[in-house]
Amino acid sequence: MQVTLAKSAGFCFGVTRAVDLVYHQIKDNEGPIYTYGPIIHNEEVVKDLESKGVQVVNDLSELKKLKKGTIIVRSHGISEKEYQLIKENGFQIVDATCPFVLKIHKLVEQYSKKGYYVIIIGNQAHPEVQGICGWVSGKNVSVMNSLEEAQKFQLESDMPVCIVSQTTFNLNKFKDMVEILQKKGYDIIVLNTICSATEERQTEARELAKKLDAMIVIGGKNSSNTQKLFEICKNECANTYYIQTSDDMDYTKLKSVNNVGITAGASTPKNIIEEVSKNVRNEL
Ligand code: SF4
Repeated sequence: MQVTLAKSAGFCFGVTRAVDLVYHQIKDNEGPIYTYGPIIHNEEVVKDLESKGVQVVNDLSELKKLKKGTIIVRSHGISEKEYQLIKENGFQIVDATCPFVLKIHKLVEQYSKKGYYVIIIGNQAHPEVQGICGWVSGKNVSVMNSLEEAQKFQLESDMPVCIVSQTTFNLNKFKDMVEILQKKGYDIIVLNTICSATEERQTEARELAKKLDAMIVIGGKNSSNTQKLFEICKNECANTYYIQTSDDMDYTKLKSVNNVGITAGASTPKNIIEEVSKNVRNEL
């Protein structure tokens, strides 16, 4: 019986930085502290911050009714307009946008200003993608999430095309979508902006899922990178479980397996991963 914990499981660099920034603000900042959206997709961490007085602002229209203070921008980043709106409402900004996301903001801004049509491969509903869209100069931008959408895409002009990706997108799917778009004969520049933390986590998860009897993927139900990890593992190993905390797992299901792999999304705290690992080992 073997339990393998993925080396890449848990907080990535950008999430560690964002969460640390909030805790530093709690220590150093006396005014009200708000995060624009939950700082990470993890209910446990958000609850702990709330207990320390950090409030979540879900919509900037709420700012008018709030006592002035500091707004922390989370690792997903925001659009240029949102930065302006926060400042206009008299709030301080502490920017925890991951540097890898900031790089995409700069790229789409530069390329759109140079006359490129921007294609963002990612989920339109994800705040990171919405933030990236907000840095494209003009309206020449499309977001697509599937091979079908890539196939259907038609550019109505002869503009050159710049393709970027949501940082947490599945690498193989990104490559497949790019291949479809490249066959359309546009003048294309491809910028693979999937972050290496995501690539490493996905590759390691895939390798583990290929060889092990069962996989446990831990992460918030709204965490897009955890959902993708689950997809990848489930493709390789039918016996894959998606849980948020140890309480969600029925460990008796692992009775008949010889080995189990554990991985976790970028916003899963270490203590949850450790608890799941401990319980799996106890069960085995
Ligand atoms: S997954 Fe990558 S891009 Fe996203 S926050 Fe973490 S380090 Fe930054």
